[in-house]
Amino acid sequence: MKVIETIKSEKPTLSFEVFPPKTSDNFESVRTAAEKIADLKPAFMSVTYGAGGGTSDFTVDLAEDLIKQKGVTPLTHLTCVSADENKIETELNKIKSKGIENILALRGDIPEGLDKSKMKYKYAYELIEKIKDFDESFCVGGACYPESHPESENGEKDIESLKIKVASGCEFLTTQMFFDNNILYNFIMRLLKKGVDVPVVAGIMPVTNARQIKRITAISKNTLPQRFVRIVDRFADNEQALMQAGIAYATEQIIDLYANGISAVHVYSMNNPEVAKRIKNNLTEILK
Ligand code: FAD
Repeated sequence: MKVIETIKSEKPTLSFEVFPPKTSDNFESVRTAAEKIADLKPAFMSVTYGAGGGTSDFTVDLAEDLIKQKGVTPLTHLTCVSADENKIETELNKIKSKGIENILALRGDIPEGLDKSKMKYKYAYELIEKIKDFDESFCVGGACYPESHPESENGEKDIESLKIKVASGCEFLTTQMFFDNNILYNFIMRLLKKGVDVPVVAGIMPVTNARQIKRITAISKNTLPQRFVRIVDRFADNEQALMQAGIAYATEQIIDLYANGISAVHVYSMNNPEVAKRIKNNLTEILK
């Protein structure tokens, strides 16, 4: 199943993200968590690639398991920042041979010390061109940043880059997390004004761990609304309370998105089936 077919409908959809383990020792526990999340019957599940210090080795294995064991459509991430053409072709052959139809094509963060002049792929759009050239039938998405990518000079330049990304074959865009929906609404208005009209999948991060959210947002430079900061500060030392409050906050964000015509919501579920389940349970009637 192509992700674009699922998300272009006006019916609300919910999807989840998992990330592969760093070592093979942890593969079984991650696989179990991913399968529990798959049991919630999401519209699709994304599997990250080498993000957050993880490895890329198990991305395709995990995605294949989702198809074979659970019949859930996977969206495999693929990054190109440190890859040459050979490496990308090897990965694409592997993805194709497992019957995976969807790829989220990313550049990846540039590692410190990497000589940029030696990079085969400097931007994600070049990877998208390569994927489409390899096999046009892949459904390819890309990343976008409602508060601008940290390397961008400004929001307008970032949107110009997204225009190039879409022209190179990107069929949908998944957003970086955001904690104030008005930021997304404003971003979509600016996208449409520049003629970027592919479906946008809204990425929502339920906050369940104060330290983790501070680390992630320090990198992504997200705006944190006062209402959100107060929740994190108040319940930082009480894990269960923070989880309850974080799930409530994320649920409220999701309902507001659906109510305002954003039909595709992707939850950064961080391999946590309990969080995914509680969010899904809050939306059962809405997703019917
Ligand atoms: P690009 O689209 O190439 O953009 C990078 C920068 O270059 C931006 O500032 C952009 O404005 C600029 N730019 C792009 N094209 C041009 C152009 N033609 N001319 C001039 N400037 C240009 N990382 C991982 O390692 N693994 C993952 O699995 C992963 N999953 C992610 C999923 C989502 C939904 C998101 C939002 C991010 C994810 N990331 C992941 C992080 C991502 O790899 C980094 O944010 C990375 O720094 C940028 O990747 P990109 O694909 O957005 O790059």
